[in-house]
Amino acid sequence: MSTTADLAATIRELVHANRILAHEGVVDAFGHVSVRHPHDPQRYLLACSRSPAIVTAADIMEFTLEGEAVDARGRRPYAERPIHGAVYEMRPDVNAVVHNHAYEVVPFSVSGAATLRAITHVSAVIGATVPVWDIRDKFGDTNLLVVTMAQGRDLAATLGGGRVALMRGHGCVVAGGTVRAAVNTAIYLRVNAMLQQQAMQLGDPQFLSSGEIERCVELQLSALALDRAWEYWSARAGCSAL
Ligand SMILES: [Zn+2]
Repeated sequence: MSTTADLAATIRELVHANRILAHEGVVDAFGHVSVRHPHDPQRYLLACSRSPAIVTAADIMEFTLEGEAVDARGRRPYAERPIHGAVYEMRPDVNAVVHNHAYEVVPFSVSGAATLRAITHVSAVIGATVPVWDIRDKFGDTNLLVVTMAQGRDLAATLGGGRVALMRGHGCVVAGGTVRAAVNTAIYLRVNAMLQQQAMQLGDPQFLSSGEIERCVELQLSALALDRAWEYWSARAGCSAL
């Protein structure tokens, strides 16, 4: 594939990721998904400031890891882009980042008593423990948005080597090796939150063991599973018409 075709394919997949996350209820008016630039690891691609439900290829902007737009052409960027740059900066293995405020996930960011844990095989990708980052710990009273690189780096430190970190009273950040892996994890993070809340109403849920998580993740992040899920979500979101 030529480099131009390669970039066009990456942008196309990113647009589909936006539509899929919106259709699956992971993002609404807010939330975003980015991908590391296929030709320059020091840059990433992210839509301009609009709902993922209506993002098109013309909305995709290029940023340095510090969050500077390379060629804005009058488009306004998301305020919370430091989330993306800081994760790419710290994690060379990460090539896609999702930030969202899924309603089902937020309760687990504010309840010290109920920690989000993998409850079913398809959501094993969220990991054995999901850390919670609190912006107030280091930055005091804010509007809770991650708008500086210092805040983004602090959040990335809480994410550590994992795929998911919750953000207290706000939402979460999800990291993946590919766009498909990050979208998959973001969707099943929300599913896990719903199932865990239901299971907790019935009693003490039995969570996946670390050995089960390891085996399930291997399967769930295989090309076979990721491609099958992607085909399904793409069809539901009407991506072929884009
Ligand atoms: Zn946010």
